Amino acid sequence: MALIVQKYGGSSVADAASIKRVAKRIAESKRAGHDVVVVVSAMGDTTDELIDLANEVSPMPPSREMDILLTAGERISMSLLAMAIANLGIQAQSFTGQQAGVITDSAHGKARIIDVTPSRIRNAIAQDAVAIVAGFQGVTQYTNDVTTLGRGGSDTTAVALAAALMADVCEIYTDVDGVFTADPRIVPTARKIDRISYDEMLEMAASGAKVLVLRCVEYARRYDVPIHVRSSFSGRQGTLVTSAATAVDPTAPRSATGSGQHTDQQSDEQGEGAVEQPIISGVAHDRSEAKITVVGVPDVPGKAARIFEVVAGAGVNIDMIVQNVSAASTGLTDISFTLPATDGQVGIAALTAVQGDIGFESLQYDDTIGKLSLVGAGMRSHPGVSAKLFAALSTAGINIEMISTSEIRISVVTRADHLDDAVRAVHTAFELDSTEDEAVVYGGTGR
Ligand code: ADP
Ligand code: ASP
Ligand code: MG
Repeated sequence: MALIVQKYGGSSVADAASIKRVAKRIAESKRAGHDVVVVVSAMGDTTDELIDLANEVSPMPPSREMDILLTAGERISMSLLAMAIANLGIQAQSFTGQQAGVITDSAHGKARIIDVTPSRIRNAIAQDAVAIVAGFQGVTQYTNDVTTLGRGGSDTTAVALAAALMADVCEIYTDVDGVFTADPRIVPTARKIDRISYDEMLEMAASGAKVLVLRCVEYARRYDVPIHVRSSFSGRQGTLVTSAATAVDPTAPRSATGSGQHTDQQSDEQGEGAVEQPIISGVAHDRSEAKITVVGVPDVPGKAARIFEVVAGAGVNIDMIVQNVSAASTGLTDISFTLPATDGQVGIAALTAVQGDIGFESLQYDDTIGKLSLVGAGMRSHPGVSAKLFAALSTAGINIEMISTSEIRISVVTRADHLDDAVRAVHTAFELDSTEDEAVVYGGTGR
């Protein structure tokens, strides 16, 4: 018997029929003898619809009220799911984030979990009930204000609860069969990855592969929580996300870690009898960023520092940066950087306020960019990966606007409307295409 945390995303609970289907699946796990804690997202596109509604009544909804509004979505799905499970003759109790003991900082809309005290969840387990927890929400430590964890945050709730409860595995149920070598909505020939390390999954998630949200992978790595990403629509084995050195049987108790699924092929450099792992894990894409260009910056020490101090002071995280070579005749240069498009107006306003002080000429804003990232731990030790990537893009006639790299990732910015073609071209160039069945997308609108 294991303690399993199962998270069901919005597309898995989009309507009454889906909720009943998921309830059956949970009941099966329970009847198999496991303790089950469930984290659930809002039904279908409810969160997007609530955001649209808020924007209709106010151009700048206060973030505190926005969070109260958005947490309503998960309350609906958690209670309906508890009802559907009870209807199958299994006890179930639903809990809000606060009731489940999810404590966060006070950054509305992107709160971080600072503690999880799930005593009520432990009580529910002790009473042999299935605990259903509303994902994506918590409360602040001292004021009990309701917070949300940022889009996709139910994944983080699930992993945080799994860590606090010392669960054997955190299963993330979604509308595809696991983590693929690219988004199956763009690349139907994408291949399912059987096992991926936290480090590679972190880069994939940070680069836009929204199948797992970045913070949940960070959390899982810190507390060594094995994640099993799989479909709620099929019975297939999905993708195991674990530390590079361990292999895990997703349903076996932790004491059995290291046995089960471990094979030489799945082991890595650190494992015994390791064989080489693939150089490239996958291609991720991101359409959510925008680019600001600060035009005509005096090319003297301290100007870049000022620009990025101002942007950071406005609470904006930046991603890629490019500075042009200064024109000798003018002593001026241009600095471009990317940031989340949702922070675009805040970034522009903050820089405009210091234009005279810094002495740049103007600002340009561009939200029609796309970012492609190639991720793979093997690129550390294999030369020529960048060259192959750039050649693939050039053959496909796609222009590169910015480039950045980490030890195990290369990212490029392209025009947004070239992004899908770019992802397919690179996926093929690195021989990631599957020769078997096409990847299945079972549900969801991709919104
Ligand atoms: P949920 O509602 O279950 O949280 P999400 O929409 O957040 O689901 O995440 C699942 C989606 O992630 C898939 O439908 C797919 O389009 C997208 N996705 C992006 N990159 C990948 C990838 N590399 N592997 C699998 N899915 C991916
Ligand atoms: N419902 C929230 C969202 O759509 C949280 C989640 O689904 O993980 O972002
Ligand atoms: Mg998600």
